[in-house]
Amino acid sequence: MWTKNMEKKKTYPTLSKDIKTEIVIVGGGITGALTAHYFMKQGMRCVLVDKSNIATHATSASTAILKYEINQGLKNLMSQVGEQNAQHAFLFGYQAVMEISQIVKEINSSCDFSFKPAFFYTEDPRQTDAMEQECTARQAIGIHCELFTQENNKDEFSFNFESGIYSHYGAAIMNPVQFTHDLIKFNVDKGLEVFENTTIVDYNLSSHQSILTTENEFTITADKVIICTGVNALEFFNHEKPFCQLYRTFSILTKPVDNFIGGKDSCIIRNDQKPYTYVRPTLTNEIVIGGEDLAIDRLDGDIANMGDRDPLALQHYHQLLRRVRKMFPQINEIKTACWFHGLFIDTKDGLPFIGKHPDYPGAYFNLGYGSNGILNALIGAKLISQDVAGKNPRELDIFKFNRY
Ligand SMILES: Cc1cc2nc3c(=O)[nH]c(=O)nc-3n(C[C@H](O)[C@H](O)[C@H](O)COP(=O)(O)OP(=O)(O)OC[C@H]3O[C@@H](n4cnc5c(N)ncnc54)[C@H](O)[C@@H]3O)c2cc1C
Repeated sequence: MWTKNMEKKKTYPTLSKDIKTEIVIVGGGITGALTAHYFMKQGMRCVLVDKSNIATHATSASTAILKYEINQGLKNLMSQVGEQNAQHAFLFGYQAVMEISQIVKEINSSCDFSFKPAFFYTEDPRQTDAMEQECTARQAIGIHCELFTQENNKDEFSFNFESGIYSHYGAAIMNPVQFTHDLIKFNVDKGLEVFENTTIVDYNLSSHQSILTTENEFTITADKVIICTGVNALEFFNHEKPFCQLYRTFSILTKPVDNFIGGKDSCIIRNDQKPYTYVRPTLTNEIVIGGEDLAIDRLDGDIANMGDRDPLALQHYHQLLRRVRKMFPQINEIKTACWFHGLFIDTKDGLPFIGKHPDYPGAYFNLGYGSNGILNALIGAKLISQDVAGKNPRELDIFKFNRY
């Protein structure tokens, strides 16, 4: 869905000789692109490889809602990871949205980045007190948000809700595929080397120097290895008890609609149901609606291997379409332009895994698992590049492996 207005995408060669570098980044989705950007800023020699093409996996399926709030909520997160860590995690997300906007400017990206307000709401009257406490906790750390109730704010929304938190800042939308391509191109012009269709099949990892082997039996010798392979990184942790949950998630993009108001100032909308639904506008008046997440217990099972037109997938798309029609009754006709589904990983606390894993001291992992994959990718890129530069950021502790 993100490629329809894009000019022909730039392609990169396949690795065809042995090379040496300071930093090798495995994975050319949005996480690899951001990671390369932060290392390039430090003036380091970087190589990025991808087993297929740039931005064709989770990044191309993403609805690309950038929002500071972690699905668990701040109060809940405090009880899981402690008050300070939870507050840091929320503020990191808040700043990360600003940082992405600065990168968009710096690289002159045509990814349609746009700040949006965000509305997180409940239809359950029993949740109103909890919603109020959540809002107060966020305000206490400087997040610009307020509590809305149906009683006071109903005219500003086309759908029913009991109460909700309206965040004026800390959220945005963009085209993640365009952004990833623009970011990689910007850094290639500054010396980043990129190889597509280059699969790493063997990792000989060491804290001093690692050797990665491609399926064509070429080697990349690097001082530091940063693994940004998203869902594929699970192959490193097969032997562990589940430390995260894999889901298949569904989205619909509608055809352009007249007068999409939906929520105050065309905000991004998410409800508190399980599974949740989220809705966001595009700059060309389409609506993106997503959710209907299905947990995956077996990688050889039906949900893990579902095709595009699987009857179960169609059921979930129709369910999303019914929801969006119910939420926006003032729109005469809502028609589907395209639908798609993809895999994503959530964690118990909604936070990503960033840093070294005790079993692989020779590599850093930037795994934006959790509620906000894209913002987590930026947070990981920043912290890992700081760590490699010897700054030892203490915040890595919040996102470390084995924290629960
Ligand atoms: C339907 C859907 C909706 C989503 N909506 C949102 C949202 O609204 N907001 C948000 O923040 N996040 C969202 N996410 C999550 C977000 O899209 C992901 O967190 C993000 O795109 C992950 O980017 P990535 O670069 O880590 O992974 P990917 O884009 O999957 O890239 C990983 C890359 O690694 C490469 N690779 C894997 N193994 C190897 C190997 N051995 N050798 C070389 N290369 C390899 C792959 O080819 C791939 O290109 C959504 C995800 C889905 C599926």
